[in-house]
Amino acid sequence: MRYISTRGNSPARSFTEILLAGLAPDGGLYLPEHYPKVSPGELEAWRHLTYPELAFKVLEKFITDIPAHDLKTLIDRTYTAEIYCNARAGDDAGQITPLYWLEPGLGILELSNGPTLAFKDMAMQLLGNLFEYVLEKNGEELNILGATSGDTGSSAEYAMRGKRGIRVFMLSPHGKMSRFQTAQMFSLADPNIHNIAVKGVFDDCQDIVKSVSNDHAFKSKYKIGTVNSINWARVAAQIVYYFKGYFAATESNEQQVSFSVPSGNFGNICAGHIARMMGLPIRQLILATNENDVLDEFFMTGVYRPRSNAETRSTSSPSMDISKASNFERFVFDLVGRDGTKVQELWGKVDAGAAFDLSGTAHYSRIKDFGFVSGKSVHTDRIKTIREVWQKHAIMVDTHTADGLTVGLAHRDPDVPLVCLETALAAKFDETILEALGREPERPAGLEGIELLPQRFTVLTADANAIKDFIANHSH
Ligand SMILES: *Cc1c(COP(=O)(O)O)cnc(C)c1O
Repeated sequence: MRYISTRGNSPARSFTEILLAGLAPDGGLYLPEHYPKVSPGELEAWRHLTYPELAFKVLEKFITDIPAHDLKTLIDRTYTAEIYCNARAGDDAGQITPLYWLEPGLGILELSNGPTLAFKDMAMQLLGNLFEYVLEKNGEELNILGATSGDTGSSAEYAMRGKRGIRVFMLSPHGKMSRFQTAQMFSLADPNIHNIAVKGVFDDCQDIVKSVSNDHAFKSKYKIGTVNSINWARVAAQIVYYFKGYFAATESNEQQVSFSVPSGNFGNICAGHIARMMGLPIRQLILATNENDVLDEFFMTGVYRPRSNAETRSTSSPSMDISKASNFERFVFDLVGRDGTKVQELWGKVDAGAAFDLSGTAHYSRIKDFGFVSGKSVHTDRIKTIREVWQKHAIMVDTHTADGLTVGLAHRDPDVPLVCLETALAAKFDETILEALGREPERPAGLEGIELLPQRFTVLTADANAIKDFIANHSH
């Protein structure tokens, strides 16, 4: 399997060649040159596989330059019941992503049972093992530089802790993360993890990452890399749980399932789109946004208008607070018939801060063929859903999952099972849970006293040179 750029102007590459790369040289995103098809016979044979067995079957179609035995070992080490141990009482943690039926025909797929209680662990944990493997093979090292307001940073740190050849430098806005998120990250004692609390806001952290990455001499001298959501391996790893969720929700491959996906950067639902293109019988992919509705607006109108930073709202589902969706370009590439020149034209506008309009075109009418519908959920919807789910089903869902449920239910077809992806656990968002339910969320075992653990972090000014000095002093 080779990988091509959405802008059609970069040489094709293998999986391990793009694993550590960010954007393709022409500024596009990597995608497989074609989507492998899953035959009805394969689908039947996969139905009863364990999570790691299924992950191997799916991923070996995309990863053809790691020997099968090695890939299997990496996958088996990633998806274990010890790592995904927070399953709800009564669920089988060994399922890794158990399906919890709220009522007949309505389930939530538990993707947040990993170490940081958010679905990003599903892909990031595999990324950690893949990075370590490829770096060791090539005799290389990597310094991962990232900016986080919470979820991505902790997920990356828990995936990379203790990995040979990898150091993590994670910037976060000093004093601005929740107490739980801060404790999760800053209590890590692994010597390869460096938490840098920047005196500033999240945008300052992101600007510093950009500025350091644009210093090409520094970047190559210190082997700076990233783990952001455009990384192809992250999307690939997420395809697996659509298959797992489909099998859990159905008894035969004649049936269809719809998935509802709380969305921000379009990474999660992009994996669902690819699973559907491979032949998984998905009826609808229901995209849910919060108040930051740039994606809902596109699916409703055909106009994609990225927002400015100033327009981006801080909400109670903060991991979906985006101004533009970094993975969306992958979907639009398929929508325009994989025409790289067309994508180049559209993103020429996006990169200049402008909008593009596909309304009235044949491209836009294809969103139905791709199974997409969308909707938006705002703070009052999310509170109402959290309350209703608690009252009716005695289950706490987090704010993002509540957005997915709100929008999913609005599109529900009574004849098709609806599976809502649970992208985080309620424990991460105690303030909003308290507002909705008048009580604190339950904490998974082992995390009760996490705020009391000693914390390790360095406070630095919001200055790229200070960060560069820190990296230089801690890279040997
Ligand atoms: C990252 C995240 C999302 C958004 O996922 P995308 O892949 O960016 O669309 C939704 N919910 C939670 C809890 C997240 O951490």
